[in-house]
Amino acid sequence: MKLSPFFTTMAFLVLTKIAVCQSNTFDPNRIIEFTNAFILEEAAIIQTAFNKPVVEFHEAIVIGAGISGLQAATVLKNGNVDVKILEARPRIGGRIVTATMDGAYADLGASWLHNTPANPLAFLANNLGIPLIPTPVTPTDYAIFNNGTKVSQTDINTLFFYSPDLTTSLVNRQYVSCGSLENAINCFVLNTIPSPLIPYAMYSYNFDLAAWFAANTNGISATVAPSYLPLHHDALPSIGYTNFIDEIFDVNSLDIRLNSVVDKIDYTKDYVIINTKDGRTFVTKYLVITVPIGVLKENSIQFVPSLPTNIQTAIQNMGNGLMNKVYMQFDQIFWDNSLAFSLLYTANPLVNYYMIFNFGRYVNKPILLTFSIGEFAALLEKMSDSEIIDSVMNQIRLIYPTAPDPIETIITRWGQDEFSKGAYSYPSLNTTFQDYTNLMTPVQNRLFFAGEAVNININGSADAAYISGENAATQILNIIHSR
Ligand SMILES: Cc1cc2nc3c(=O)[nH]c(=O)nc-3n(C[C@H](O)[C@H](O)[C@H](O)COP(=O)(O)OP(=O)(O)OC[C@H]3O[C@@H](n4cnc5c(N)ncnc54)[C@H](O)[C@@H]3O)c2cc1C
Repeated sequence: MKLSPFFTTMAFLVLTKIAVCQSNTFDPNRIIEFTNAFILEEAAIIQTAFNKPVVEFHEAIVIGAGISGLQAATVLKNGNVDVKILEARPRIGGRIVTATMDGAYADLGASWLHNTPANPLAFLANNLGIPLIPTPVTPTDYAIFNNGTKVSQTDINTLFFYSPDLTTSLVNRQYVSCGSLENAINCFVLNTIPSPLIPYAMYSYNFDLAAWFAANTNGISATVAPSYLPLHHDALPSIGYTNFIDEIFDVNSLDIRLNSVVDKIDYTKDYVIINTKDGRTFVTKYLVITVPIGVLKENSIQFVPSLPTNIQTAIQNMGNGLMNKVYMQFDQIFWDNSLAFSLLYTANPLVNYYMIFNFGRYVNKPILLTFSIGEFAALLEKMSDSEIIDSVMNQIRLIYPTAPDPIETIITRWGQDEFSKGAYSYPSLNTTFQDYTNLMTPVQNRLFFAGEAVNININGSADAAYISGENAATQILNIIHSR
């Protein structure tokens, strides 16, 4: 074992620290007074040598190296705070992860930058010179197929014509008394849309909003959801989302420990003790928790004492949405390449929530991307890969009967992902605005929640997560500076 030349002179302080750390009277303020990073490192080396639990102290610790955790750590580091990230996976990015297919970047989690005129990630892309690929949707880009037969362009134009009115009436909470978001949409449709088009209107409007919230609309709050409605100025990062966050963050300058699954957080005293599954112990004054809502709902992290009731209620009330993707590469394009999005309308409930995105149109490759949403996505996740592909291809062959089998596929199962347990949050029928406020309020100025669900202004997206990380870090800096 290699020991630092300073070992002998520092040994006394190091051993004192170990003793203090392991005693019941451990006081991190005392340790800050006489330790520095060098001593902590030595403490770790010595404790490892003696096969004792490692204790590391950092002024702030962030759990999770998704976009919210990376932004929280960056803001803290820029504020001269000693901060470490503990990440369960062997990689950073969390629900941002990019694969390649036929040389094209295929995002398995976040794909789009939404509402680009107001999205901080779009500003960053612009500043970094990263081209964005806009994906505007006009009536001629969009098709609905009713059991294989294309709904007429005139009817699609009508659906598009009424779409802004739907958004306005939802935002004005005009149909809140109807109940869920599904009922509010259906009330609007019944009041507004010409009767022959009612089934398509109900289907496509519900589908669009289900896709936005990653949940069946009958479980979404018509009171809360309208605050997070899409504005449809969407674009794909041309370099894929993973490369994009690598450009945004100076990852090498951040202290990140991968493969560190946090399983216990003890905030009994006026500091926080964090345990990982591999037997490590970390101590901090400020802990930012960015694990997804699905992970918090599972209670796989033990909090001592239990989280305050209002936080537990907020976690329980928050919807945990599911969306999955199937990328399919073909020998050649066999579909109408002028279309961007196609919805498969059918009375069969099993295909209620299928959408096909002509991804190849934006990357010049013969690639289709299908989405499944909510309950249907959960059902599909339980199937084998070949059953999922058969299910998708059966639908596509209703439209294009001679469609060949794909030559390569990528299938996601976000609900089964141990460190995600879903796609992203949504406002369920029980969610209140107070739940968001509660999650955004620090617990005893020691625990700070962040992540896509911890944002009262936008929700569920990469930019929501980014902003939440910044908010949590700013709260900590304000506390430090007010001391
Ligand atoms: C299929 C899909 C499509 C999407 N599409 C879009 C889109 O087009 N546009 C958009 O803006 N957003 C989209 N999103 C949402 C977006 O990806 C997320 O909102 C955002 O990436 C969440 O970032 P985060 O930092 O909050 O969480 P995460 O990225 O999930 O980061 C949390 C981190 O915590 C880690 N972690 C979990 N448990 C533990 C533990 N016990 N110990 C230590 N670490 C732990 C996880 O591994 C993860 O790295 C999509 C998501 C999915 C799944």
